[in-house]
Amino acid sequence: MQNFDKAPFLVIWEVTQACDLACAHCRARAVQWRHPSELSTAEGFRLLENVKALGNPLMVFTGGDPLKRPDVFALLERSIQLGLRTTVTPSATPLLTPKAIADFQRIGVARMAISLDGPDAKSHDGFRRVPGSFARTLFALEEARRIGLETQVNTTVTRHNRLRMPEIAEIVERSGARLWSVFFLVTTGRALVEDDLTADDYEKVFVLLYELSTRASCDIKTTEAQHYRRFVAQERKFEKTTPRNLVPNTISRQAGINDGKGLLFISHTGEIYPSGFLPLSAGNVRCDSLADVYRYSSLFRGLRDSSQLKGKCGRCEYCNVCGGSRSRAYALTGDYLAEEQRCVHTPTEAYAKMA
Ligand code: SF4
Ligand code: SF4
Repeated sequence: MQNFDKAPFLVIWEVTQACDLACAHCRARAVQWRHPSELSTAEGFRLLENVKALGNPLMVFTGGDPLKRPDVFALLERSIQLGLRTTVTPSATPLLTPKAIADFQRIGVARMAISLDGPDAKSHDGFRRVPGSFARTLFALEEARRIGLETQVNTTVTRHNRLRMPEIAEIVERSGARLWSVFFLVTTGRALVEDDLTADDYEKVFVLLYELSTRASCDIKTTEAQHYRRFVAQERKFEKTTPRNLVPNTISRQAGINDGKGLLFISHTGEIYPSGFLPLSAGNVRCDSLADVYRYSSLFRGLRDSSQLKGKCGRCEYCNVCGGSRSRAYALTGDYLAEEQRCVHTPTEAYAKMA
């Protein structure tokens, strides 16, 4: 497992909060217009240089919709020129034209991620709250495939689409995406607690993802369900096998990564958060050193110290590979070190006594 004390594995920059969709669960509470205090182009260039100075993290341009910024291609190009592996997550709106997709590929974007939350227009557009979004999503995936741009599909699982995950998986498979990233709800922004799954239902989705991962042509990973790693470890122990596509790919690379631990998030106004789902700022790139905040702030250090975890996460034999979603703990309890509220696991007695 990597040591994330010095540098993150992944840096996510919310280049804008503006977006023309209006998703029910939007973390960013996105609106159609850009915020007047958004980081400027020059500040964005400086930020990217400071990210590069941290090492070689994966650089994700997210939003809002990155395409709402007229300078997004200049910013992406700068990131790529600096040598950062750079990906982008545009929204499926009329801004995502064949030219925009071709431009991503031309300048060297490593991957484009697109959201898909239902297997048909009714379910997906209902979620995204804009008619035509489903068709645009499929079109963008098809267009990227046609020109050879690597893709990723992001799906947020809620109680509304949980039972339709197998159908969504079929679309992901047919799209040729390299990765299916399944987001589990954190009730921040516009997301509602009543849309979240129960801990038992999380486990049922894990069963499905694990089973799919043995035969899918793409990698499958979870976001804000760190305990899927616990599930995978338990299954592997049980089966004494290594399922294709899970190890050594995405799951092993993710081992130990958590909010503020291998991951950092820069908001549209430069706030430095441990995750986009954990809106606690440890500084601002306009006035603080990104490296110092990541390495030395009490918030980030605390999040990397598994001995500070509370409740059953603090007594758990999987606390270092999993640790529970710190964002969900904060959203549901107000304490980012509290135990994960959506995990069925009971730590083993022997480990709990040692902890
Ligand atoms: S596409 Fe993303 S940023 Fe836009 S409203 Fe939906 S969740 Fe929010
Ligand atoms: S109890 Fe906490 S650390 Fe243990 S598997 Fe569950 S979420 Fe992870």
